[in-house]
Amino acid sequence: MENTTIYALGTPAPSRARPGALSVIRFSGPRAAEVLIFLTEPHAFGRGHSARDPALPPPRRMALRTLVDPLTAEAIDRGLVVWFEAPHSETGETMAELHLHGGRAVANSAFAAIQKLGFCRLAEPGEFTRRAFEHNKLDLTEAEAIADLVAAETDQQRRQALQQMDGALHRLYEDWRTLGLRTLAHLEAAIDFPDEDLPSGIGDEVRESITALRAEIAGHLEDKRGERLREGLGIAIIGPPNAGKSSLLNLLARREAAIVSETAGTTRDVIEVHLDLGGWPVVLADTAGLRRTGDAIEQEGVRRALARAATADLRLLVLDATNDWKTAMAELTADSGRWDPSSDIVVVNKIDLQPVDFAGVVALSAKSGAGLPELLARLQHSAAVLMEQGAAAAPPLTRARHREALIDAEAALGRALVAPEVALAAEDLRLAMRALGRITGTVRIDELLDVIFRDFCIGK
Ligand code: GDP
Repeated sequence: MENTTIYALGTPAPSRARPGALSVIRFSGPRAAEVLIFLTEPHAFGRGHSARDPALPPPRRMALRTLVDPLTAEAIDRGLVVWFEAPHSETGETMAELHLHGGRAVANSAFAAIQKLGFCRLAEPGEFTRRAFEHNKLDLTEAEAIADLVAAETDQQRRQALQQMDGALHRLYEDWRTLGLRTLAHLEAAIDFPDEDLPSGIGDEVRESITALRAEIAGHLEDKRGERLREGLGIAIIGPPNAGKSSLLNLLARREAAIVSETAGTTRDVIEVHLDLGGWPVVLADTAGLRRTGDAIEQEGVRRALARAATADLRLLVLDATNDWKTAMAELTADSGRWDPSSDIVVVNKIDLQPVDFAGVVALSAKSGAGLPELLARLQHSAAVLMEQGAAAAPPLTRARHREALIDAEAALGRALVAPEVALAAEDLRLAMRALGRITGTVRIDELLDVIFRDFCIGK
C-alpha cells in the first residue's frame, strides 16, 4: 500500500463570489504531524523535528497557531490546528487538519507552503475514505454511505445514508456470509470425511439453511425502498398533448424547466426535475404527449413517454378539463398492467376554464395554481405508500452494485440446492459467499475499489 502523506481541501474551493468563512485542509499519512510542525514553527523546516516538539499540540486537541511559510517563515494566516495519532483517526493513519480563514489567497498560499515541504501530494477523489477502508476503519457499504450522506438532498435520504454509515448493511451482509460459511463448513466436512459418522440428516440441515438464506436474500431483493430513496422516486407525467403537462412541471419545480408552448407536441424529449416532497426525493419526468401521430419525431417522443411511464414508480396522468377528459381517463387507466390505482394520480387541468368536481381526481389549474396543495398532498401520500410498501425491519438494499452481487449470490444458492454432488454444492455455496463478500469488500477486487472511490469528492 502506498504510504505518501496526502492532503486536500476538505471544504469547497473558495471562489470570489462565495469565499466561505473557513477553509479546512486535511492531511493523512506518516508525516502528517511533521507537516504541522513545519508549517507552524518558524525555521523548524530544515532543522528537523522531534516527537515532543513544542509546536505540536496534544493529539485530538485544537490549538491556535500561526501558519508560516516553511522556507521564509512569513506568516500566512492564524487558525486552529489539530492532529490525530495513528491508528486513532478517520483513516487509521496519522492525520492533521488546518482550519484557516476562507478565501482564495489564504488557500493558495497555504497550498504553496505545503508544496514547498516536498513530501506531500494532493489526494485523489475518495482517497481518504479509501485509506480508511484499507485500514479496516469501515467496509465498502459504509464508505458508500459516506458518499451518499454528502450527496443527500432530503431528510429521508440523509437518514438512510446515516443508518448505512453506522453499519446496518455491513452487519446484514456479514451475518449472511457467516451463516453461509458455517453451512459450507458442514458440507466440506461431509466431503473430507465421507466415511466418518457425521450426524444423520446433515443433508437436510444444509438444505434448510441454504433455502432460508436464499429466501432472505430474495426478500431483500424485492424491497425497492432503499434504491428509490437513494435515487429518487421516479414520477412520469403523462397525458395527451396540450393538457398542461409542461405547465404543471413548471408549477411544481417553480422554475422554467420545461418548454411550455401553444403548439401541440413540442415537448418531445423527456425532461427531469428533482423535487423534495416532504423528505421523499422525487425525480419528475415530463414526457411528450400521448397521441397517435404521423410526425416521426413526435412519435419517438410518445414511445419514450410510454416507456418512461412503464418504468416509473408513479404515474401522473394530466388531462384537459375542456376536452373529453373522462373518455381519455377511462382509456388510459383501463390497462391494469400500466396503471396502479393505489398510487397513480389523475389530474384534470385547466379548471379555470372549466370547473371539475369528480371523486378521485385532482382538479387543478396549472395556470393559477388552484388545486396545487391537494395535488402535493396526494403526491406525498403516494410516495409514502410506495416507500413503505413491504417495509421490513431489515435495512433496505440501496445500490445497483449490491443488487448485482446479491442476484449472483441468490442464483448460486439456487444452484447449490439442485447440485447433483456435494462437492458441486459446496462450490456454488463458495461462489455465493464470494458474491456477498464483494459487497462489503471482505473479498477484495482492486478494479472495483477504483470505480467506487473515483465517484467521491476530493477531500473525502
Ligand atoms: P403539454 O403539451 O401537456 O405539456 O401542455 P403545456 O403545458 O404546453 O400547455 C398547453 C397550453 O395550455 C399552453 O398554452 C398553456 O399555457 C395552457 N395551459 C396549461 N395549463 C393551463 C391551465 O391550467 N389553464 C389554462 N387556461 N391554460 C393552461
